[in-house]
Amino acid sequence: MRTLLLLATVFIAACGAGHHSTGRVTTPSSLVADGKLWASFFQQRSAEYRALCQQAFNIARLRVDELSKRQTLRPMAIVTDIDETFLDNSPYAVHQSLMGKDYEAASWAEWTAMGKADTLQGSLSFFSYAAARGFEIYYITNREEKERAGTMANLRHFGFPFADDKHLVMRSDVSSKEPRRLALAATHDIVLLLGDNLADFSALFDKKNERERAGNVSISANEFGNKFIILPNVTYGGWEESFYQFNLRRGDAEKDSLIRSSLKTY
Ligand SMILES: [Mg+2]
Repeated sequence: MRTLLLLATVFIAACGAGHHSTGRVTTPSSLVADGKLWASFFQQRSAEYRALCQQAFNIARLRVDELSKRQTLRPMAIVTDIDETFLDNSPYAVHQSLMGKDYEAASWAEWTAMGKADTLQGSLSFFSYAAARGFEIYYITNREEKERAGTMANLRHFGFPFADDKHLVMRSDVSSKEPRRLALAATHDIVLLLGDNLADFSALFDKKNERERAGNVSISANEFGNKFIILPNVTYGGWEESFYQFNLRRGDAEKDSLIRSSLKTY
């Protein structure tokens, strides 16, 4: 009887989730989870993604060559974001998507504590190149202070330059990076910024709506490929938060219908 009950329970559990099977676990399907799975598929498998990253770091290298000719009184600093700028967190996105889930702070902290994110193509050689030419690298990230140890281990594992407490600047009270950039600008010339999110570059992009973000890209048009080096991120970012008007606590069904109703077709 107990075996029968157990079998029945397993059967009901297996059918209950319904939807589609990924092979590893049975997950409810949603546009957001499936979309992030597809985005991660591109990030992990396409050579085009690698080429886009390489292209960004090649341009950054050209900028460093140009900037090296400059005479400055203060040290020159390169400010870089971490996630999806040079560390690849797509395994986390896949892990969540396979459970039908989006980003969650707790599971994210578990992932970063492991310190096992891989590097994006061209990143390590670029930062080493810049460091060897006298540029100081500052890692300004919105990972939290409690993620410092895992993050540091990840950077040191690959031998990223300036992987020390002074140069690894975690999020403290506010998500905006502007106060941290301004603090650095008191002592350094920030000559180059790298990021996958527009807010990695300027306060012009902090919590702005979609129209303002697009308008401010036009206003800053000359900065891209010059002072701002942008990496592609199709999985998440300010673009997504802005689309939801910074209210990410919407249910899957609401997100699904908001996305579908926003898209152009013919
Ligand atoms: Mg990032």
